[in-house]
Amino acid sequence: MQVVKNIDEVRAQVREWKTQGLTVGLVPTMGYLHDGHASLIDASRRDNDRTVVSVFVNPMQFGPTEDFESYPRDLERDSKLVEVHGGDIIFNPEPYEMYHEGFSSFVDMTVLTQELCGLSRPVHFRGVCTVVSKLFNIVKPDRAYFGKKDAQQLAVIRHMVDDLNMDIEIIGCPIVRESNGLAMSSRNTYLSDAEKKAALVLSKAVFLGMDMVKNGEKNSSVIIGKMKKLIEAEPLARIDYVKIVDSATMQQIPILNRPVLCAMAVYIGSTRLIDNFFTDEIGGGSHGNINA
Ligand code: AMP
Repeated sequence: MQVVKNIDEVRAQVREWKTQGLTVGLVPTMGYLHDGHASLIDASRRDNDRTVVSVFVNPMQFGPTEDFESYPRDLERDSKLVEVHGGDIIFNPEPYEMYHEGFSSFVDMTVLTQELCGLSRPVHFRGVCTVVSKLFNIVKPDRAYFGKKDAQQLAVIRHMVDDLNMDIEIIGCPIVRESNGLAMSSRNTYLSDAEKKAALVLSKAVFLGMDMVKNGEKNSSVIIGKMKKLIEAEPLARIDYVKIVDSATMQQIPILNRPVLCAMAVYIGSTRLIDNFFTDEIGGGSHGNINA
């Protein structure tokens, strides 16, 4: 496993693999890797001959008051995880390698990005689409792996790939949770012990919503109302949104007459966390991919 910081070097390596007829998977991340990221690497390893993991805290997808500076970074730790999971390259460029002086081209998506997280993070998806497009152009993977934890991001990337005729298969992977239900996130490191306990309201609300759907509730506002009530009972929690939307268009759905996405963003103290479930993935009894 090698750490590569330079675009030309990654390209040369991928070109060599391709001349040998090997397939390449890409796992884009911002680093500080955990078992959620590891599940994407495992999926890529299953499907492809070689796997590139990008570790890049992308300044363009953070708003001016967001946590770009304080976002956790630990390349040594990340390297060990990628090595253990059999990744072949970590691509870890510096911001100037990705955004040279005079950089002025962006991938900007309308509609899908005006909902959910896009409302409270107006520049976020432009940054995501731009950096992911660049990573796709640099690595030219056969497949790219994204977590369903960032359900809107996954929908946006699928839409972008379709709109711009990018010849890359996008694979969505299930949410990986701690044994207590908390969805794994690099941002969980911001939480104090009290906040970690409080953060469980997100997964509790997800499980409550899942149970209501499983028991036949079809009215979105009833489901959302009960989930919000549960979250609001936690003093450290402040709801950004809880919504039920079409999983491709992100438009709100009042009645569950087709598979939908129920997504939420909640501040725990000053940390903004997200969680969700897709109604067509609710199984009989277990709540997602809990890490025992
Ligand atoms: P990030 O480093 O937070 O930008 O995430 C990189 C990729 O890992 C994204 O596609 C995320 O959706 C995915 N990811 C992050 N957390 C999880 C999780 N708990 N389960 C599954 N995928 C995740």
